[in-house]
Amino acid sequence: MPELPEVETLRRQLEAAVRGRTIADVWIDPGTDRLVQGMPVRAFVDGLRGRRLEAFERRGKFLIIRLDRDLTWLAHRRMSGNFILANGGDADQAFLRARFTLDDGRELRWVDLRKFGTMWLTDEPETVLAGLGPEPLDGAFTVDGLRASLARRAAPVKAVLLDQAVVAGLGNLYADEALHYARIHPKRPAKSLSKAEVARLRDGISRALEQGLANLGSSIGAAPGKEMSLRDHVNLDGEPGSNQEHIVAYGREGEPCLTCGTPIERIKLAQRSAHFCPKCQRLPRASAGRTGRRA
Ligand SMILES: [Zn+2]
Repeated sequence: MPELPEVETLRRQLEAAVRGRTIADVWIDPGTDRLVQGMPVRAFVDGLRGRRLEAFERRGKFLIIRLDRDLTWLAHRRMSGNFILANGGDADQAFLRARFTLDDGRELRWVDLRKFGTMWLTDEPETVLAGLGPEPLDGAFTVDGLRASLARRAAPVKAVLLDQAVVAGLGNLYADEALHYARIHPKRPAKSLSKAEVARLRDGISRALEQGLANLGSSIGAAPGKEMSLRDHVNLDGEPGSNQEHIVAYGREGEPCLTCGTPIERIKLAQRSAHFCPKCQRLPRASAGRTGRRA
């Protein structure tokens, strides 16, 4: 599932490959009933046709494409949305949901197995992006700011990190990685973290995301012994990222912790899973039974 590093990698690749091009034509699979948000599909298609791709930005997990005429095209990849750049004559990918033909004949293809991906065309992008918390790789993402957000929440810190209002762009994978780097148990009540722990967590978040970026994102199915799925993240060229080779916690249930050798455990937490090392990420006794108290 694409998170900040996967969306940011896509943004950089799009900017390098198609900035300045114009959208010549648009096709949307009539079977996708939720891809286009906030307007009829017809209006989306007509509105995009002829527009120039002026700049590529990102906020949290949202891809933001600035167009001429003060229009903005936003895309959220959700579970399995991928943009792939193809030549006009190339065979269609399985689960092709939309095709954006450029003025040079190349095509931006939206491929989305699960069909949860969403797009908007708007002159008020801030309404779509409202409520997002700080960007975790910005200087504005401070220990004090994160601490203030966590202090208001008794829920497990892992669940709170997934709240896009607390920090924008984290999902299940990088939250598990960040907590492991910070040596914090995912079930710790958010408000029980000390200032030193919040500082470790902030650093852990940066480390996990920077590593994901350096490796062009995580494509779990491309790991040794696994099988690539059409659900996996691929980059603009259709190729997987390589961050799955550097993951320390997420999806490593039963495998040895890279620090201490203890098998990584997996627990259910807020309808998701959390992966952690029970030795490096201990749960203090007071946190196990009561919330908001530390030993
Ligand atoms: Zn360990």
